[in-house]
Amino acid sequence: MTSIFSKIPSIDSLLILLDNHTQQIDIRFLKQLIENVIKDIKTHPSQYDIQEKTRDEITSLVTDEIENQVNQLLSPSFRRVINGTGVILHTGLGRAPIGPQIINQLDAISAFTNLEINLSDGKRGERLDHVLPLLRLITGTEDAIVVNNNAAAVLLILNTLAKRKEVIVSRGELVEIGGSFRLPEVMKNSGSKMIEVGSTNKTHLRDYRDAIGDRTAAIMIVHPSNYKIMGFTEKPEATDILALAHENDLPVIYDLGSGALLDMQTFGFEYEPVVRDVIDLGFDVVSFSGDKLLGGPQAGIIVGKNKYLTKIRKNHMLRALRCDKIILSLLTIILKQYLHTESIIKDNVTLQLFSRTIKQMRMLSERILSEIEKQHHLYIKVVDSGGRAGSGAYPIHSIPAIALQLDKKKYKASKIARKLREAEIPIVGYILDDYYHLNFLTLMEDDVPHIAASLNKIL
Ligand SMILES: *Cc1c(COP(=O)(O)O)cnc(C)c1O
Repeated sequence: MTSIFSKIPSIDSLLILLDNHTQQIDIRFLKQLIENVIKDIKTHPSQYDIQEKTRDEITSLVTDEIENQVNQLLSPSFRRVINGTGVILHTGLGRAPIGPQIINQLDAISAFTNLEINLSDGKRGERLDHVLPLLRLITGTEDAIVVNNNAAAVLLILNTLAKRKEVIVSRGELVEIGGSFRLPEVMKNSGSKMIEVGSTNKTHLRDYRDAIGDRTAAIMIVHPSNYKIMGFTEKPEATDILALAHENDLPVIYDLGSGALLDMQTFGFEYEPVVRDVIDLGFDVVSFSGDKLLGGPQAGIIVGKNKYLTKIRKNHMLRALRCDKIILSLLTIILKQYLHTESIIKDNVTLQLFSRTIKQMRMLSERILSEIEKQHHLYIKVVDSGGRAGSGAYPIHSIPAIALQLDKKKYKASKIARKLREAEIPIVGYILDDYYHLNFLTLMEDDVPHIAASLNKIL
């Protein structure tokens, strides 16, 4: 009996058939791809229906597969995506949108740049000097350090100030954020020992006081971000915790999470601790994300007192966690926007979305509808809906919004979802009560023609 595998063409014959691709990728890579496909066919012959297929059919199966793979490898992996989810800081879609106006300013770093050189005297500079004056002015901090993300910031702070020592933290603040950031775990990795005090819903000042001992290095406050404890709750005033810590010569570390640089009440949101207010209160070391409410690139920003930040700067771990020129230049451009509060909403794409009104969303919806062919209007409704901040900010706040709702008579919602994800500019919406929705809270002006064209095509 001849093996079914004898029908599988040889690698050399396949290489000849696929020869035209060697203009785009090395023959050794092509060979590697072919070998992998053939190996896969041999491991799962039934999945490929090898038994039923002729040699020619198997040949074209392999060449088609390789062609697909080569095309995929050569086409851009990152695509612009239209966010119709209604979640502004959507982790899957890259959190804070930055906007083309900012990206277009990145020319300066396209080749060499003054990352760590002082152009006035030619001497060695400090990469953080690009952001330091901005952060000082905007937050009132004495010093600032920027690392890869807020998780890294917390790790670095604890490792510097509390390695082999104890950090007191309330049981009501032992949060997990997005699965990968769990405060107890980060503490452990930093080499510091967590001393839990109080209970989930109530922590008193005396709980902190009783826990202070010889090995205490700091008190830590964590913004609970993605959940809220309601009802019978209590925690001490920040000023009381600060007074207690400072009496004992201890720093208070505040993991602020979202890190609003502006008062979100301006946009109708609940008060979210503003970095400046927290610094003014006297917190010693404060950290927050660059790509949450700040509306910038992924980064972890540490602000606070010189006394502690000087130590953090000397930690060798900083070398492993520091940001590169791309992130730092993006961050400086974004921070400059904050120098003028009046124009920030005009300039910062993330804050634009947070400040979006129903009226603006209605205008967008009317523009889309006007570009959709009349016969399709039958399948489309504009409905009231709610959006969310996302990424742990304002977990229980539903932002008033409207959404396009697509009828399910013609296609099932899941089919519409797939077709729209396959659009030239992929569109990501959501399914609610079996209906497909596109939420206007997160749709951009530029998305209008693409959405209309895609809907005209699929409906
Ligand atoms: C989001 C968040 C983090 C993690 O920040 P990343 O920038 O995502 O690393 C840590 N702590 C709090 C309280 C947060 O909200």
